[in-house]
Amino acid sequence: MTTLAHLLARQARAAPDRPAILLGAQPWATHAQWAARSAGLALRLRQAGLAPGDRLVLFMRNHPRYLELLWGAWWAGLVVVPVNAKLHPGEVEWIIDDAQARWAFVSADSAPHALAGLQRQVDVDSAEAADWLAPLAPGDIGPPAERQGTDLAWLFYTSGTTGRPKGVMLTHRNLLTMGLGYFVDVDAVAPRDTMAYAAPMSHGCGLYAIPHLMAGARHVVPASGGVDPAELFALGRALGPLSTFAAPTIVKRLVDHAEAHGLGPQDAAAAFKTIVYGGAPMYGADIRRALRVMGPRFVQIYGQGETPMVATALSRAHLGDSDHPRHTERMASVGVAQTPVRIRVADAQGLDLPPGQPGEVLVQGDTVMQGYWRNPVATAAALRDGWLWTGDVGSLDADGFLTLMDRSKDMLISGGSNIYPREVEEVLLTAPGVAEVAVVGAPDPQWGEIVVAFVVAQPGAAPDEAALDAHCLACIARFKRPKRYVFVPSLPKNHYGKVLKTALRDRLRGTG
Ligand code: AMP
Repeated sequence: MTTLAHLLARQARAAPDRPAILLGAQPWATHAQWAARSAGLALRLRQAGLAPGDRLVLFMRNHPRYLELLWGAWWAGLVVVPVNAKLHPGEVEWIIDDAQARWAFVSADSAPHALAGLQRQVDVDSAEAADWLAPLAPGDIGPPAERQGTDLAWLFYTSGTTGRPKGVMLTHRNLLTMGLGYFVDVDAVAPRDTMAYAAPMSHGCGLYAIPHLMAGARHVVPASGGVDPAELFALGRALGPLSTFAAPTIVKRLVDHAEAHGLGPQDAAAAFKTIVYGGAPMYGADIRRALRVMGPRFVQIYGQGETPMVATALSRAHLGDSDHPRHTERMASVGVAQTPVRIRVADAQGLDLPPGQPGEVLVQGDTVMQGYWRNPVATAAALRDGWLWTGDVGSLDADGFLTLMDRSKDMLISGGSNIYPREVEEVLLTAPGVAEVAVVGAPDPQWGEIVVAFVVAQPGAAPDEAALDAHCLACIARFKRPKRYVFVPSLPKNHYGKVLKTALRDRLRGTG
C-alpha cells in the first residue's frame, strides 16, 4: 500500500535535486536531502526501540524540521501526535498521557522543562535533533515501513473549545484521500508552486504539505514561524506567488495590511497564488472586502479535525460568479460537498431535511476519522450509521450549497424560537463601526434565553446601542435582535483563532 512516506520516496526519485523545503527565502533541503534525513530519523527511531504504531508527539512551533520529522515518523510507521505549540505544558502532558506517547520533539519555548510521561524529549533546535536527522547515504536508505491504509498516521487532538480534547484517529488512507481531493476541489498545484506555513503546522495547515508533496511543489516556513503579513507579502514577491491556509482572522490581517499599505489586487497576485480559508466562520462582509482588496485568490474549505479539511468547498469560480442570482447567499455559504465525501443535513433521528431547513451536518467518505482514540462513548456519538455527526448546524439549498449556522450547542432558544447567532453576527458586521462581533445566549427568566451581542468597535469608531438596534430591525426579524450589547476591546479566542463562546457565556453568568 502506498503510504504517506512513499510520497517523499517518490519525489526523491523523480526530482531529487529540486529545492523542496525553504526557511524564509533560504534553501533548507532538496527532495533527496529531505528523504535522506527522514529515512535516517526513521532508522534511528526504530533502533531506539520505537515500533510501527507507536506515537510520536510534535510539540513545536512551525519549523522546516517539522516536515522532516513528520515524514521520518511515517517512514518508520509511527503515528504523529501534533500538538499546538501554544498549549500549556499541563495540557500537553494530558495529551501525552492519553495518547500513551513516550517520545516528543519540542520547541524549547513551548516546553521549557521536561514534560511528564516522556522517556525522551528532544529540542528540535538542538545538536541532538540534528543527529537524529543526520542524512543517510543513498545506499543506506531503506524503504518506508509497510503499513496498511487503515493504519493510523495522525492522532489529532481536537482544539477542545469545550471539555477535554479527544484524539481523532486518522489513517494513511484518510490523509491520502484528503491530499488527492485538494487538486479537484481546492486548487491545481504545479512543481513551481510554493506552500507557505504561516498558520500552525500542527493543524490543517500542516496537512497541506501532503498535496504539495504529491505535486512536487516547494514548502516554505517563514523565518518568523508565524503570521506576519509584511513578511508573507515579501516572501511571495521573492519566491513567486505563495499558496497558504489562513483562518479568517489571518485573512483579515492580510487584508488590513494590504489596505494600510495601498496594495491592490495586482500586488496581491504577485505575492499570493491561493489563500485557502476556513476553520471558523468567514462573514459575508469580510470575504467581499478581501476579494475587493486582494482579488480572486481565495477558496473556502469547511472541515473539522474529524474529516480534516474535507467537507465542503466554495471554489474560486463560485466566489467569482458575481452574476449568479444567488451570489450573495453563496458567498456566505461554505460551498458544496468536496469530491471525496457526501454531505447531508438531518434531524435528530438522522432523517434528511428539505432544502432550506437547518439541521445537523453529516459527512460520509474516506476522509472521515476511524473514531476517537480510546473513547468508544464519544466515537459512538460521533459516528452513527456510517455518518460523521459534525455537531455543526447548517442548511443545504437546492443546488447543494451548505450554509453553516452554528455549532449545535451555540444555537439559542428565546421565547420558544430558535435563533442562530451566526445570522445575527452577519447582520451586525454590516453596521458602521463594527469590527468584530460574537452573539451568545444568556439565561433569562422571561424568555428562557436572550440574545446578547459582544461587539468590538473599529479603531476610532464608537457604535452605539440604538444605532445597532435600528440596523438589526432593518435587516432581521425583531425577535432575533440582541436585547443586550456588551462593548469589549477584543473577543476571547483559542490558539486557532476561534472565538470562545463558552467564555462569553460564562462571563454573562458571572462564572468567568
Ligand atoms: P477543528 O476540528 O478545530 O478544525 O474545528 C472544526 C470546526 O470549525 C467545524 O466543526 C466548524 O464548526 C468550524 N469550521 C470549520 N470550517 C469552517 C468554515 N469554513 N466556516 C465556518 N465554520 C467552520
